[in-house]
Amino acid sequence: IIEIKGVEKRFGKFTAITDINLDIAKGEVVVVIGPSGSGKSTLARCINLLESYDEGDILVAGVRVENGANLSAVRADVGMVFQGFNLFPNMSILRNVALAPVRVRGLSWREAEQRAMKLLERVNIAAQAQKYPSQLSGGQQQRVAIARALAMEPEVLLFDEPTSALDPEMVGEVLDVMKSLAQDGVTMIVVTHEMGFARQVADRVVFMENGRIVEEGSPDEIFSNPKDPRLKTFLESIL
Ligand code: ATP
Ligand code: MG
Repeated sequence: IIEIKGVEKRFGKFTAITDINLDIAKGEVVVVIGPSGSGKSTLARCINLLESYDEGDILVAGVRVENGANLSAVRADVGMVFQGFNLFPNMSILRNVALAPVRVRGLSWREAEQRAMKLLERVNIAAQAQKYPSQLSGGQQQRVAIARALAMEPEVLLFDEPTSALDPEMVGEVLDVMKSLAQDGVTMIVVTHEMGFARQVADRVVFMENGRIVEEGSPDEIFSNPKDPRLKTFLESIL
């Protein structure tokens, strides 16, 4: 459902990612790991066109992610959940989730809010629907952000360190929601340092270093039988 071919992104003279080739099948969960500065966020941002890329091609559901051109189509196909939750502070939780379908898809508020309610149930937060973001815990806000991303019925959900801003006791509830989405067959790309999640949930783990994909494989291959010395060093540093 996603094809990434020979993608490179430069910031001035600095090459942030290069020679990235990655195909992701429908329903697949790909976890991206690697040291700070290795280009994980840059790759995620290129897939969602938050960043333009300089070389190569990215196709999402057969549609070329073209720099500048078809932004709204890409954004509708690729849902994104960040470290910060970026909810609209002046809107209820329910409205936060219903807004994009109304604005972008032209749904009525009534229809959009009915659907939003179902999504809030799915992330176990329906009871908070009428509250405002500031009244929720970080873990709850992040689950709302996931519901909001799902509301556009994207082809793929992209997560960039969704739990790294959370207090430790809230990490689990967000990972559990992500796990259940994975079980429901949602296609996901997850940048994370949560190696337990990677091991348990990923179909494939991609290790990046210095802007390149250095090694990829099943969780077992990556964690139990790493080949590249840079991956070995990375795993030793975090486990
Ligand atoms: P982290 O684990 O710390 O989030 P990362 O793997 O997500 O790291 P990126 O944020 O993709 O790394 O950054 C890759 C490289 O590109 C880094 O060296 C970073 O400094 C550089 N970079 C990222 N964004 C920009 C920018 N807007 N302008 C210049 N350089 C940038
Ligand atoms: Mg990052």
